Amino acid sequence: MAKSKFEYVKQFETEDRLLPNCWIVVRIDGKGFHRFSEQHNYIKPNDDRALDLMSRAAEAIMEEFKDIVLAYGQSDEYSFVFKKNTNVYNRRASKLATNVVSLFASSFVYYWPRYFGTQMMQYPPAFDSRTVLYPSDKNLRDYLSWRQADCHINNLYNTCFWKLIHEKGLTPAESQERLKGTMSSDKNELLFKEFEINYNNLSAVHRKGTILLRAKNDQINGDLDLGLQLIPSGSSTARGGQSAKSQRVVSNLRAGKNSRPNIDRLHIDLIGDQFWTDFPEILDP
Ligand code: ATP
Ligand code: ATP
Ligand code: MG
Ligand code: MG
Ligand code: MG
Ligand code: MG
Repeated sequence: MAKSKFEYVKQFETEDRLLPNCWIVVRIDGKGFHRFSEQHNYIKPNDDRALDLMSRAAEAIMEEFKDIVLAYGQSDEYSFVFKKNTNVYNRRASKLATNVVSLFASSFVYYWPRYFGTQMMQYPPAFDSRTVLYPSDKNLRDYLSWRQADCHINNLYNTCFWKLIHEKGLTPAESQERLKGTMSSDKNELLFKEFEINYNNLSAVHRKGTILLRAKNDQINGDLDLGLQLIPSGSSTARGGQSAKSQRVVSNLRAGKNSRPNIDRLHIDLIGDQFWTDFPEILDP
């Protein structure tokens, strides 16, 4: 096709191809979700409808981008890990970041009624997005550990902050003041002494965030479906002492797999070695 005389402006576009052979992480984060969560009556400190919606939108991303090997989400953020040798969009950083975040945002809006029923969205939400390279497996693990540690620190703080408000009648300012300068151990003790709560017994979704992994094969899912009748949905058998794999089974059963893509949601520790021993194929496909 003949080129127009205007075509030269294309050369102003800069090359943003990412270094080969590195893990690519795309992280999206809600813009101003402190306000968005207030305006949409999120339950504090953790609104499970919102967390489920975030995970459903993240699953839409994994359905679209088959080179994503793992996703990790908490609060208003999700990180997507692309396999090291992915060639999607020729590894162009801006293509990756923008396509992921726009599909995420539209999915968040698209699935909203499924989780929030008739509650209307007050205004269109936005998300930011960035692309980061991690050259070594250790860097990637440390990245994910950083996000999960962040989840833990925020959840411990927010749990205390809202307990003091909801159950002791403190104002937000008073609650903040009460928690100022406290260490993790102080917060654990506060929860235990004032509210008879053992932090470790609180919901794993809130303490650990959500890891998305592709279900291995249909055989596994066949087995899972079979189990659906055996474990009641309110059962607490998924908690404590079980291996990641058996937790994965129960988490699947709970989620009602049929209405969702073939992706598992896990709420387990990924900072220690156990997770990586249980799922070696993530780092060595
Ligand atoms: P920024 O635009 O800089 O990201 P932000 O207001 O989104 O600003 P974040 O640090 O991303 O700030 O924090 C997100 C906030 O959204 C949390 O502090 C919390 O108030 C709220 N939030 C997100 N998800 C939930 C949820 N599931 N339940 C309750 N609150 C939530
Ligand atoms: P890519 O993901 O690479 O952008 P694409 O299919 O979106 O792929 P484009 O070069 O962006 O390809 O072209 C957009 C296409 O969308 C057009 O070729 C046309 O077929 C269709 N399209 C967009 N807007 C309209 C419209 N208003 N009416 C009819 N067709 C449209
Ligand atoms: Mg932020
Ligand atoms: Mg945010
Ligand atoms: Mg955030
Ligand atoms: Mg197009």
